[in-house]
Amino acid sequence: MLDINTEIIGRKVIYLQEVESTNELAKKIAPQEEEGTIIVADIQRRGRGRKLRKWISPKGGLWMSVILKPNVHLVHITKLVFVSALAVVETLAEFGIEGKIKWPNDVLVNRKKICGILSEGKYSTDSVEYVVLGIGLNVNNEIPVDLLDVAISMKDVLGFRVPLVEVFRNLLEKLDKWYLRYLDGQYALILEEWKAYSAVIGKEVRIVGDNEEIIGTAVDVSDDGSLIIALKDGTLKKIYYGDVSLRFS
Ligand code: ADP
Repeated sequence: MLDINTEIIGRKVIYLQEVESTNELAKKIAPQEEEGTIIVADIQRRGRGRKLRKWISPKGGLWMSVILKPNVHLVHITKLVFVSALAVVETLAEFGIEGKIKWPNDVLVNRKKICGILSEGKYSTDSVEYVVLGIGLNVNNEIPVDLLDVAISMKDVLGFRVPLVEVFRNLLEKLDKWYLRYLDGQYALILEEWKAYSAVIGKEVRIVGDNEEIIGTAVDVSDDGSLIIALKDGTLKKIYYGDVSLRFS
């Protein structure tokens, strides 16, 4: 039907017209599902970002989650967000859009968020039960007025609507390609490509956490997915994916 040309991603696709949150449902069914299963919905009533922040998900956007069960060490888990971001950027390129990756979990066009990625899962130090990767991509959906300064859709960039199903098919194929490389341990390639599309490497950034704010230049990402910042005095500091927000100074 959809004619998806993939090995793992999208072996099973669960399509819903409406759902509370694709990630919540994916986490619920993950223990029983095989890896590669996708949940995709036209509308999320309670789409989420990190820390229960709202992700606006009206009709016209691509709101999906994928269930993964990689047999890897915990240190490699955060790189799955990089895998997703690369797949999103390559998908945008197929439609003539140049996306940039903002550490840790966003894809930007013209400095506005076109896609958010939310990684959640169940794992211990020595085994991964499942990882759920939520990808919210603004395709043809309207951006609410109060988010117009920070958010953008593919339709707004191009000036015309794009076939949602084509975006979906493309994204699954790119995700499959990058996930197979990930399973093959091609971490160096993933980090290199990620850096090539990064909106932050080489830039002055401000990292805003609950209790502190760090200003410096983003110089690199590490194998564990953390961002390396050079502070004014030259010392290097690792910033971990968690509840920190990155702003451009
Ligand atoms: P942060 O960018 O602070 O890490 P999250 O990744 O948790 O935030 O995403 C939630 C934020 O994204 C919201 O607070 C809102 O500003 C923004 N947002 C919500 N819906 C959308 C959307 N459809 N497109 C782009 N940005 C959105």
